[in-house]
Amino acid sequence: MELKICHLYPDILNLYGDRGNIICMEKRLQWRGIDVTTTGVSVGEPLKAADFDLFFIGGGQDFEQEVLLPDLASGKTREIKAAIEDGKPFLAICGGYQMLGNYYKTWDGQQCDFTGALDLYTEGSKDRMIGNYSFTCDELGVTVVGFENHSGKTYLGSSVKPMGKVLSGFGNNGQDGMEGARYKNVFATYSHGCLLPKNPVLADHILKTALKRKYGQAELSPLADTLENNAHDYMVRRLSKQ
Ligand code: GLN
Repeated sequence: MELKICHLYPDILNLYGDRGNIICMEKRLQWRGIDVTTTGVSVGEPLKAADFDLFFIGGGQDFEQEVLLPDLASGKTREIKAAIEDGKPFLAICGGYQMLGNYYKTWDGQQCDFTGALDLYTEGSKDRMIGNYSFTCDELGVTVVGFENHSGKTYLGSSVKPMGKVLSGFGNNGQDGMEGARYKNVFATYSHGCLLPKNPVLADHILKTALKRKYGQAELSPLADTLENNAHDYMVRRLSKQ
């Protein structure tokens, strides 16, 4: 078995080492003897979504997100929307999450029309929502720990569900108690960190989703996730004391 991962804008959207999620997914596949290739697709490079099984897009500053608008409009938006509707799994972090929505209005009123792949929108604010945080991943029944740093406040439309509820920190907007977004096989969250290494259950769930869609079934042998679980559990305890 093999998974082909597409890393969108790896040179531009990589705040807080979000590419660590790619490294984590590659390792968790390789440790199980599953082949994996990762291809970066950035500005000016054509995206043929049919060539990939799983997509990752990281976070970035408002400026980088604005820089990407013409490139998205040049064809990537069409490919991204088609891949999402076709059930291809996406992991989108922070700015990458926002870019899957309809628009992002910066705090000074600039409106960036994004892909519209998910029914959500973001409005910039002067508040910066920053710090370690935790939230529930309702479909897995686990707590997810991460690090958030965003001024954008994201609001979900009716066709999108949250990843879960905020336990500690701000989440999507610091108001409605929700964090992240789920639509078809899209997993979107504000969680830098990077997210996956200390949330191995979520990491494997995303990998299984991609394997199941490609091969019809997905069994991943258990890994000795002692370090990963210790890091996760340490943050759960630390955040529960706040
Ligand atoms: N520029 C966006 C915001 O500030 C996303 C930030 C990020 O990706 N960390 O909300």
